[in-house]
Amino acid sequence: MISFSVQPTTTNTPPATAAAAVQSSLLPHHHFHQLSFSTSLPRRHYSHRRLKIRAIDAAQPYDFEAHLTNRFSQSTKLKIAVIGFGNFGQFLAKSFVRQGHTVYAHSRSNYNSAAQSIGAAFFSDLHDLCEQHPDVILICTSILSTETVLRALPLQRLRRNTLFVDVLSVKEFPRDIFLQVLPSHFDILCTHPMFGPESGKTSWQGLPFVFDKVRIGDEDSRINRADTFLNIFKKEGCAMVEMTCAEHDKYAAGSQFITHTMGRILEKLLLESTPINTKGYETLLNLVENTSSDSFDLYYGLFMYNKNAMEQLERLDLAFESLKKELFGHLHEVLRKQLFGKVEKGGLRRPMLAKLPRNGTPLLPSQSESLSNNSN
Ligand code: NAP
Repeated sequence: MISFSVQPTTTNTPPATAAAAVQSSLLPHHHFHQLSFSTSLPRRHYSHRRLKIRAIDAAQPYDFEAHLTNRFSQSTKLKIAVIGFGNFGQFLAKSFVRQGHTVYAHSRSNYNSAAQSIGAAFFSDLHDLCEQHPDVILICTSILSTETVLRALPLQRLRRNTLFVDVLSVKEFPRDIFLQVLPSHFDILCTHPMFGPESGKTSWQGLPFVFDKVRIGDEDSRINRADTFLNIFKKEGCAMVEMTCAEHDKYAAGSQFITHTMGRILEKLLLESTPINTKGYETLLNLVENTSSDSFDLYYGLFMYNKNAMEQLERLDLAFESLKKELFGHLHEVLRKQLFGKVEKGGLRRPMLAKLPRNGTPLLPSQSESLSNNSN
């Protein structure tokens, strides 16, 4: 498509015909620029007009092709409201904006300038934000404050089938709160990007993204909207993992909670880099760096709102005790040998490192006692 614009060489030039005059007065200015017209009046009465090509393939409001392109781009672009614009909220928002989505932000604190620098619009008033009718409400607040934040949302100001998504590091808890608080006409998608501003600093390529389509309406538009949201992470190269919230919490307690706990224990040791760091030690230093940048609220949330976390903490305790006993057991034998000069009849009694029951097997008090006795 080629479009022309009229470039008058003189000012106050009258339209060439009466018809053109009527057209030019009815159409908006930019439409007039699209008209090409001929004159039946003698040319000498009017100054010469020169037509210049000003734009090639410029999208016009009535252009079908442009309309289609626009509709396609609208169907793949979302208006996402990020509720909780702290560390993780801002981190995610940057990618949303980069992919062309519109981001509205709200938080307890004022993040106006942070939002501006990212290209998002900050709303300190939740009512104003909801009146923008976002397609997606993304809950990105601390685990501990989620329920209060959700209950404070003026749901009546949203479109009836708005999609609610959360990115909390625990999953059964937000799923249950969403199902309790949100009327049935809202869609629910529970997600957990298994990375953060540190681990996903340079790229999200290959990093796991867990999701559970808890409640998505049957209409194509609602299914597509949830998929469009998930596609944001797919496009960044995330490994998309669909699993139930319950499965997630079981795996996450045995992996993420243990990782954060070890990171926090090591942080308390105030480890320092040395001139002879081994690869393993470098890994530990990285672990401390990765976990210490997360808030304590986040860690506490992992413990409080994942019912599997307590068991993991007990297993950790037990494993440490068992390991110490094995070490001290060896030491005890060496001392006895030195004291009595020879190996006692019956050979050395080697202490055994008690094997913990498989992950997920409940630890009963009797079991933990027998584990301790075994290694004595
Ligand atoms: P966070 O400490 O878990 O949460 C901070 C956010 O919660 C801030 O936006 C903060 O708002 C808001 N908040 C805290 N207390 C609040 C309250 N009483 N009322 C209202 N808002 C409150 O740190 P985060 O790293 O930003 O994590 C946010 C969410 O993402 C968490 O649910 C976390 O589990 C999840 N997540 C985090 C990571 C990560 O690597 N960081 C990865 C995956 C998922 P203000 O800043 O305005 O005070």
